[in-house]
Amino acid sequence: MKTLDVPLKAKDYRSDIEPTWCPGCGDFGVVTAITKVMSELNIDPDHVMAVSGIGCSSRLPLWLRTFGFHSCHGRALPVAVGAAIANPELTMMVTIGDGDMFSIGAGHVPHAVRRNFDMNVFCMDNNLYALTKNQVSPTSREGRKGSLTPYGTIDIPINPIDLMITYGATFVAQTYTGNIKHTTDLIMKAIQHKGFSFINMLSPCPTYNKEETFKYYKPKVYDINEEKVHTDVSNRLKALEIAATAIDHFHDAEARIPIGVFYQVDQPVFNDKLNELKTRFKTQYGSPEKPDWNKLFDEFTA
Ligand code: SF4
Repeated sequence: MKTLDVPLKAKDYRSDIEPTWCPGCGDFGVVTAITKVMSELNIDPDHVMAVSGIGCSSRLPLWLRTFGFHSCHGRALPVAVGAAIANPELTMMVTIGDGDMFSIGAGHVPHAVRRNFDMNVFCMDNNLYALTKNQVSPTSREGRKGSLTPYGTIDIPINPIDLMITYGATFVAQTYTGNIKHTTDLIMKAIQHKGFSFINMLSPCPTYNKEETFKYYKPKVYDINEEKVHTDVSNRLKALEIAATAIDHFHDAEARIPIGVFYQVDQPVFNDKLNELKTRFKTQYGSPEKPDWNKLFDEFTA
């Protein structure tokens, strides 16, 4: 992470473009939290990249004074991966929605995760496709009505936390964007973690989602770390056990919703392993720009 000598305020990390989100959108909490963290860590905005796909949440890079890439639907991760390999000094953020991440771009997720790229994926989960005016998404509760499902969806929702731990993400957490302090604390931990960090952000869409609202989430969420339900975050089995309860609230009115850090471990990141390979190559064949072609050819044809 590259830092500045002169401290900047949170507002200095905001671009001069006014957000076009609806008033009361949960995503406002995310941009506030991101800029607070950038200011607290004194990050050089010239070494930050925010990549998004398509959707309401994917507009977020526009509101930041960093490098950004508003890519195609479902393709934020491959763009971020390419940039992270090309420039390992970047603090990489992927700001993405639940449909973009777990439906249209779902095929990219396990491969970005298992290579442990050093990046931060913030999934603003509003349980629907909002930009296209209210279709059900992979995280919609069964029975939810949308503009294309007037009788309610018959699909079973996926559990993002469970899935990301299973894929092997080295930092997995959940927050609720109505609690900006909690969201800020988790973004801070994610950015400081070296490896693939994922935060599922329960982010209400007051325009289209009349079920999972701020009022709905507030009394239900509880912090698993603060309440000492989960203290050893490297314990994968315990993390999965708690993660399994993350979407119980869809069918159990009494169920609480776990937030906080579920899982965190240190593992070598992709770029460090790549550098090791480059060093080995150099020792055997010389510089990658001018290798010993005869030696390479002999070995490959032996
Ligand atoms: Fe936010 Fe929903 Fe409006 Fe999109 S439609 S900006 S998610 S409140």
